[in-house]
Amino acid sequence: MKDCNQCGKCCIHYSDGGLSASTSEIDWWEEHRPDIFSYVNEGQIWISPDTGKQLVSCPWLQKLPDQKKYICSIYDDRPNDCKYYPVDIAQMVRDECEMLEARDLLYLEKAQRTLDELMADSRPPVSR
Ligand code: SF4
Ligand code: SF4
Repeated sequence: MKDCNQCGKCCIHYSDGGLSASTSEIDWWEEHRPDIFSYVNEGQIWISPDTGKQLVSCPWLQKLPDQKKYICSIYDDRPNDCKYYPVDIAQMVRDECEMLEARDLLYLEKAQRTLDELMADSRPPVSR
């Protein structure tokens, strides 16, 4: 398994309504990050503050100039949904995540253990 190469596929895939945030995350944004909170509407993210409609792409996703890489401009304060991604190998296969290597598909349990180790600092322990 490779490190994330910031290809941006996951952000592009999920940001048009496929992400959610908890009440405590939303409350925290309201108090500490009103800029992020402005893209929340009735508990849903990411909603245009201008039109009240679901955005088709994440307002925080930025493509690096002259590169095929993306960055998250709210990285430290992004939703847990984003922090916990990718959760499992099946999801990575579905989303064509570029962390996957061909051998990961041959040894799925080992690949999942490697992923869990890589993600240990980003998400709560997963009991499998
Ligand atoms: S908030 Fe950041 S990590 Fe989440 S979809 Fe947007 S750009 Fe990606
Ligand atoms: S799809 Fe995979 S490799 Fe691409 S940015 Fe998301 S986690 Fe990283």
